[in-house]
Amino acid sequence: MQYNSEIQNSFYRAKLKGAKFFSIGKSFLGRDILCCHIGSMQGKQILVHGAIHAREYITTLLINRQIEYLLAKQKRGNLDLQVGGIYFIPMVNPDGVDIVFNGAENINCKLIKERVNKILEKSNKQLFKANANLVDINVNFDAKWGEGKHNKTVEGTENYIGAFCESENETKVLKTFTQKIKPSATVSYHSKGEVIYYKFKSDSLTLKEARSLAKLASAVTGYKIVSQGSSSGGFKDYCMEKLSIPSLTIEVGRDDLTHPLSKKDLPHILQQNLKLPLRILEKVLSL
Ligand SMILES: [Zn+2]
Repeated sequence: MQYNSEIQNSFYRAKLKGAKFFSIGKSFLGRDILCCHIGSMQGKQILVHGAIHAREYITTLLINRQIEYLLAKQKRGNLDLQVGGIYFIPMVNPDGVDIVFNGAENINCKLIKERVNKILEKSNKQLFKANANLVDINVNFDAKWGEGKHNKTVEGTENYIGAFCESENETKVLKTFTQKIKPSATVSYHSKGEVIYYKFKSDSLTLKEARSLAKLASAVTGYKIVSQGSSSGGFKDYCMEKLSIPSLTIEVGRDDLTHPLSKKDLPHILQQNLKLPLRILEKVLSL
């Protein structure tokens, strides 16, 4: 048994509606990191990902529903994408998500199981954010790596930057895939707070485009744009600084909800975000 039935079902549902998932690489424990492409392979592409932080798996449920929405539109003949497409990666951190539900139960390697269990002894597994190597993937990227205010240099449930920059499988898989498809924009879904981040060290054109995408995302979702806090080593940070790709981090779910967000929070999040990837693609295509 992996994850839980809710997440399994969300992938099954998307597949039943016609989603074709393919693997872009393996996690630390060897699970596939799945991706689904919608639209045309020609022209500009965007990349949308979720669940880089384990406890934020609500973003996996959201992205699978975004895929279903676009497939249904396509089926009705209402999706006219002669050029432009969207790559969706619903779950960057499958091992971590499994730990949130099952602790170290499904880890076969004795050594890793012991390390994870040691950390879980002092913390609630439901609040787990890292991967199964106890590294926080979203502080492991090569963008001001290790300079964040909340960064940690010891393994744990969150904020551990890793033994070295881009040490993790998941980091490398996402980086390599992004370099390969060269998206014109990226959206990183996290929870929670109903806010949008876009600022990071970048050239002025990238920053300007990111700001305009943030404004669009804010208009669609109703979320507030906030100026950057102490972010470093994140995927959005890496895309902005190293690849000059305008990129957003979007935190779904009201701030007063508790982690992990539950299925009953999903309808509201869907209402705010269902159409956003298509709107961002349309905007990117118009630039
Ligand atoms: Zn997060």
